[in-house]
Amino acid sequence: MRRESGAGQVMRITTIRVYRIRIPFRPLGSRWVGRNRPPHLDSTVVALETDRQLTGYGESCPIGAVYLPAFARGLRACIGEMAPALLGQDPTDTGRIYAIMNRALSGHYYAKAAIDIACWDLLGKFTGLPISHLLGGRFTREVPVYASIPLDTPEKMSETLELKRQDGFSRFQVKVGGHPVEDVNRVRRLLGSGMHAETFMVDANRGWSKADALRILRALGDADCYIEQPCETYRECLTVRRHCNHPVILDEVLDTPRDLARAIEDDALDGMVIKITHAGGITPARILRDLCAAHGIKMRLEDTAGTEFTRAAQAQLAAATPLDQQLGSYTFCTPLSPVAHGAPEYRNGHLILNDEPGLGIVPDPSGLGDALAVYGEGSG
Ligand SMILES: [Mg+2]
Repeated sequence: MRRESGAGQVMRITTIRVYRIRIPFRPLGSRWVGRNRPPHLDSTVVALETDRQLTGYGESCPIGAVYLPAFARGLRACIGEMAPALLGQDPTDTGRIYAIMNRALSGHYYAKAAIDIACWDLLGKFTGLPISHLLGGRFTREVPVYASIPLDTPEKMSETLELKRQDGFSRFQVKVGGHPVEDVNRVRRLLGSGMHAETFMVDANRGWSKADALRILRALGDADCYIEQPCETYRECLTVRRHCNHPVILDEVLDTPRDLARAIEDDALDGMVIKITHAGGITPARILRDLCAAHGIKMRLEDTAGTEFTRAAQAQLAAATPLDQQLGSYTFCTPLSPVAHGAPEYRNGHLILNDEPGLGIVPDPSGLGDALAVYGEGSG
């Protein structure tokens, strides 16, 4: 089946092109109170060109420089650092490529993610299969997505909730993390009491102290919701989890499969947010997905930010994840002009995938613009 291009390889990476995409930024949660807000999101798209006339694409987009220990210029420097080790390698050997990146650079998984996703895109294009088929097969072509309700007054948030319902959403993330009394008012106004057919995830984005979190959760009583990332650290979240009646979702404090294994051992979570580029790409995110699935932990399959490339990558992973374990993916804000075509479109609470190979999208050259950096054969 494998047709080799020399040295036992299916294909080899000849050129790495690095593009920069600016995306409008609209802060959603409390993380930006008192911190530097980026004027726009600075996303990086990587194109891996090969000797098979196939090109793979991957994207990684940190949210500014203070949301997580990641920032765009650092990301692009990391790609330059790894490029010499990647040129000439076979991108369809996704696990081996990851080992090569780890030998060239410690950590910096959000930079490795862009390369890793592009390798999966190439593996899909070479085999003629969507990435979801390579991740265990599709459970669905219609990936459920949630709507985020930005932090605001209870009245304004209630209005936004109604608009999102009219758009077809039934899964909601309610941003909190402000003053405890105001947060309780927000949740009470939006959720009321009793069980819901809809899903609510109350996300503090690390904005509560442990003491405030315990007071707020006691005040919320029987509100039917998940509590997402209440405090800054894993340890604080674990204490809150042990004292609250609500299921807890962990987001920013879990990075690696090793982190997740510890959290499972501690019984620290009921749900996990798997952000593909924060995890380091599809290769490690797949391990997180399988660990969660094996332990009955619900998942949000999404990312920090990005364009059509990111939307396609998270939809491919979500499509290959059992539906009853999903809390929802995300639609993402888009750049002012499209950078790719064929990305999953939003329809009535879902993203609809096509059946094209790889990520299933075609880049728009005018949207990508000129490459900021080129490594390898095309750099001359
Ligand atoms: Mg979150």
